[in-house]
Amino acid sequence: MTAGTDEFALINRLAWLLDPPTHGIGIGDDAATWSPTPGTVTVATTDMLVEGIHFRLDWTTPEDLGWKAMAVNLSDIAAMGARPRHALVSIALKPDQAGIVIEIYKGIAAHARASGTFVVGGDTVRTDGPLTINVTLLGEADPALILRRDGARPGDVLAITGTAGGSAAGLALLSGEPTDSDPDRSRRLLAMHHRPSPRLHAGPALASLGARCGIDISDGIASEAGHLARSSNVAIVIDVDAVPFHPDAVAMFGLERARTLGLNGGEDYELLVALPLSLVDRARDAIASETTLTVIGRVVQDQHGGLVTATSGGLPFTLGAGGYVAF
Ligand code: ADP
Ligand code: MG
Repeated sequence: MTAGTDEFALINRLAWLLDPPTHGIGIGDDAATWSPTPGTVTVATTDMLVEGIHFRLDWTTPEDLGWKAMAVNLSDIAAMGARPRHALVSIALKPDQAGIVIEIYKGIAAHARASGTFVVGGDTVRTDGPLTINVTLLGEADPALILRRDGARPGDVLAITGTAGGSAAGLALLSGEPTDSDPDRSRRLLAMHHRPSPRLHAGPALASLGARCGIDISDGIASEAGHLARSSNVAIVIDVDAVPFHPDAVAMFGLERARTLGLNGGEDYELLVALPLSLVDRARDAIASETTLTVIGRVVQDQHGGLVTATSGGLPFTLGAGGYVAF
């Protein structure tokens, strides 16, 4: 859209915060260009964050918000086994929010730099409504090594990177849920919520080792396992005792609540993958520089597909209703 004088000034300030791409055309022309790496497919994802729905400006710093707007998209790219390359960022703001947007872009620029992503364009518009940020992330992958949701096979194990429940525990702290409030633990859990680290190395590494099925955990393990099970037409059995719940979440909220936060909470941005048991040791080594890999369940045959059940101490464990419901 054609921007007014104020918008041009703002776009210039935003562009100044971002690293220009090393090749091709970036911000400042009618569109961006780049050359795809030969032999790769383009992997594209987009995610929109709306004030009051996805974030609250009294709960997050604008810089953390920018980091997170990138994180949610980078995580989807990693979950496909792909590498991020370019991003387009569109914002709708009220006239008095330019200062906040500049702070948001500091977080976007930091995560772009940390992940090797170039922001090469976007759009800036005025609104009377809530502050809205949309990031479109474009990455690339070897087409034979994509991690899809429909690739789980009976006999595979289900494994998770990192820990579960840390981000939801951070959100519970922000919501004022009563806890044993140790300041160091609180700080760590809030960081899990505000500054998630998408598994940018683990995604492609697991894919090139031979994993064929993966998803990122934006909505809690139970809900994401359900997506894998339905897409792959299999059933999944989760061993709740094996799930690595975040130790600070367990210490602050107790095991039972930490389990709910990890299984039914969200925004951990870890990866949930299905892979043959024979690959697990090598997979663990391959991602050890970034994070851990823990087997938490198994994939079994299912006539109807999509069933996710759980056990704890050898007994059936009821998985609560999962995930964030948008509508
Ligand atoms: P046009 O009217 O041709 O779309 P704009 O004035 O909207 O041009 O944008 C000018 C340049 O700035 C383009 O390269 C566009 O991609 C970029 N741009 C605009 N807004 C943003 C933004 N919020 N973040 C990054 N780049 C942006
Ligand atoms: Mg435009």
